[in-house]
Amino acid sequence: MNKTVQDRHVEIEGIPVRTDHFIGGERIASPTTFEVRSPLDWSWKLADVSRGDASTAARAVEAAQQGFETWSRMSPPERGRIMNNLADSIDANIEKIATIECLDMAMLLDSLRKRVIPRAARNFRAYADLAAEYQERTWCSNGTHNTVIRMPAGPAVVITPWNAPFMLSTWKCAPALAAGNSVILKPAEWSPLSLSLLADWINDAGFPPGTFNIVQGIGGELGQSLTGDPRVKRISFTGSPETARHIGHAAAENIVPFTAELGGKGALAVFADADIDAAAQKASSQFHDSGQVCLAGTRILVEESIRDDFLEKFTMYTGKQVQGDSRDMATTLSPAIHPDHLEKVEAFVNSARKNGDKIIFGGRRWKQDGLWYEPTLIEPKSNDSEVVQREIFGPVLTVQTFVDEAESISLANSTAYGLSGMVYTRDAAKAERIGRAIRAGTVWVNTFLVRDLTAPFGGMGISGIGREGGHYALEFHSDLKTLQILEGSVA
Ligand code: NAD
Repeated sequence: MNKTVQDRHVEIEGIPVRTDHFIGGERIASPTTFEVRSPLDWSWKLADVSRGDASTAARAVEAAQQGFETWSRMSPPERGRIMNNLADSIDANIEKIATIECLDMAMLLDSLRKRVIPRAARNFRAYADLAAEYQERTWCSNGTHNTVIRMPAGPAVVITPWNAPFMLSTWKCAPALAAGNSVILKPAEWSPLSLSLLADWINDAGFPPGTFNIVQGIGGELGQSLTGDPRVKRISFTGSPETARHIGHAAAENIVPFTAELGGKGALAVFADADIDAAAQKASSQFHDSGQVCLAGTRILVEESIRDDFLEKFTMYTGKQVQGDSRDMATTLSPAIHPDHLEKVEAFVNSARKNGDKIIFGGRRWKQDGLWYEPTLIEPKSNDSEVVQREIFGPVLTVQTFVDEAESISLANSTAYGLSGMVYTRDAAKAERIGRAIRAGTVWVNTFLVRDLTAPFGGMGISGIGREGGHYALEFHSDLKTLQILEGSVA
């Protein structure tokens, strides 16, 4: 790989951002780059970022193999100490990370500062603790003494999407590292900059070279070379079902376990006995981050008797939303990440129009010279409508009615996805019944996005394979071994 271009960097709003790969504890440049622009103003070029290729992937895997030799032999508390050091650096740099991520993907600055980036530090701390508290299971049976040993698996490739990239990537890297695996992280090409900052603190935290590598590039080019390398022992992916199918093929070829956290089409079911005002307010907040949230409740299902009351309140709350620059504290609705993504959202709504679905409000770009799309509500002609069945990943919600519990469950479970669901009711027994009946990895009742990092997280159907969170992710990143010693045969 060409190393002649040294330490490419750029200054964005006074913040220095290095834009090369981080491999084996060093910044490594590729001779070619890809361009990153700000969704807040598409004429604003933020950076040129090293564009990795097959040789970058090979070099990163080699470094990760070497890093694995040292890292996997360290004890969980030693690894935890280093992960906590990295968490300290994140905490000390929240403002920088939040600013860069806001410019890079247009997530609201206030929420990045207060909620999203601090969670990234918590991801490392939580996994440092979880790995250290693990107890090996030991017992006697059939005349043998048995021990279940959790062994680090090897280099892990982590591939992540463009939404909330910093928090989401740390959520996936932390368990891999805590389990004793080395990591090669490939961020999404539409929002690579905040994770490039992370590389600045890896050496100082004390990670041995090659333990934690970050490579930049285009998915179909670099990603494919990483997932197809037989030296990789785990693949942890978050993104679209389409890409997961490619990665699944690569994983099958090398017989490597992989997890996939994929898209969603969550139902938000509102019953007549619910706090309708709270439900309407929460439903309206599904437009936040331009609807680019995998867990969002994008299909509103409302009990027929309260439809008009609910829609009146929902429309009132949506009317209070403010579209604008994600750096402004008053803004609640940010732009789409990229012109190509905006076009995709637009195409869904236009095709709904043609299909005869009713656009209740919205359905247009907010202004022609930006990437904002109006918050849009659609009443579909039928449950088969594309806007009901496919993930749009934009500020577009649908509303349908149901007459009883059975119909609410049947509608909630009527797509191929199964990532999340939400239920609004005041009836405890109903909350249990509906919560248990919805086929989704997480169901919230009367709330949304509350997360306990020890709970399993993932999707059913085409929303994913495997579970992240707590010991579930540690187990995925480990090879379990049973050691059996004949009792009385050793002293
Ligand atoms: P995507 O699948 O297009 O890309 C995700 C990542 O995969 C990127 O880093 C990309 O470069 C890489 N990639 C693309 N092709 C590849 C290939 N052939 N081999 C290896 N890597 C490849 O997804 P996206 O558009 O970045 O993200 C949006 C999707 O992610 C939505 O469907 C969203 O719902 C989903 N998502 C899911 C979760 C979750 O936790 N379930 C969280 C966030 C986003």
